[in-house]
Amino acid sequence: MTGPPIHAITDGTAGRVHAFLLDWGEGLTLIDTLSSDTGEVVLAEMARLGRPVGDLKRIVLTHAHRSHVRGAARLRELSGAQVIANAREGEIIAGERPSAATGFLPRHPFRVYQLQFGLNVGYYVERYLHRRPGFVSFPACEPDRTIGDGDMIGPLQVIHTPGHTDGSMSFYWPAQRALFTGDVVVTWPHLEAGWRGLSTDMDANRRSLSQLATVGEVEFVGSGHGPPLVDDAAVRLRDLLAGARRS
Ligand SMILES: [Zn+2]
Repeated sequence: MTGPPIHAITDGTAGRVHAFLLDWGEGLTLIDTLSSDTGEVVLAEMARLGRPVGDLKRIVLTHAHRSHVRGAARLRELSGAQVIANAREGEIIAGERPSAATGFLPRHPFRVYQLQFGLNVGYYVERYLHRRPGFVSFPACEPDRTIGDGDMIGPLQVIHTPGHTDGSMSFYWPAQRALFTGDVVVTWPHLEAGWRGLSTDMDANRRSLSQLATVGEVEFVGSGHGPPLVDDAAVRLRDLLAGARRS
C-alpha cells in the first residue's frame, strides 16, 4: 500500500457532504456515497488514485439520508462491492419506507434549511407516492449485510450512534486513530454536535457523542458534512461534547 490510507471526497453539494475511501490492503472501502445517482465523484477519485472500479469491495453507509446513499446502487452495480448498513436504515435505503420527518420549523444553522426542507418534503412525497408504479425518488439499494454495535468491518469497529437517525452508525479505525461519525458531528458551516433541524433526537445524539469521545485515541474525525477535523481532533471533539452538555 502506498500513499495515505484515507481519502476524503466531496461533491460540494448538500451541505458539503463528504464520503471517505479507505485502504487497509483488502481492496477499497467507501464510507457513504455522496449525492449523485451516478457515483461519478467517487469514480473520479478512484481513477485519480489509479484504482479500477473492481477494487471497491465494500460500501458502508452511516445512515439513510439521501445525500449519503444516492450513489450506492450504481457503485455496487459497477464494482460488485458489498453494501453494508444498519438494518433499520437499510429498510429506508432499500426503499421500503421513508426516513423520519423532523419538521419544517427552521433551526440553526439556517444555511442548511434547504436540506431540512428537502428531507421533510421527501418524507411526505415518499409516504404518499412511493408505492405507485413507476415512482422512483432515488435508486433504492437493499444492503447485502446489516451491522450492529460491536461488529467489525475489517479493522473498523462499528459503533451504534443514534440521534441524527435511529440507526446512525459510526466507525473507528484504531490503527489510523480515525473516527468516522456520519452526521453525529458536522463541521460545516460550523463544528457542531449535529444539525438540530435534520436530526430526530438531539439528546440521543449528545449521548452518542459522549460515547465517541471515549472511543480511543483520535487524530482524524471524518464528518458527514464539512471537511475532516485533523488538527487537535480529539481536543475539539471533547470541547464539542462539553459545549453540547451545556446547551
Ligand atoms: Zn443525515
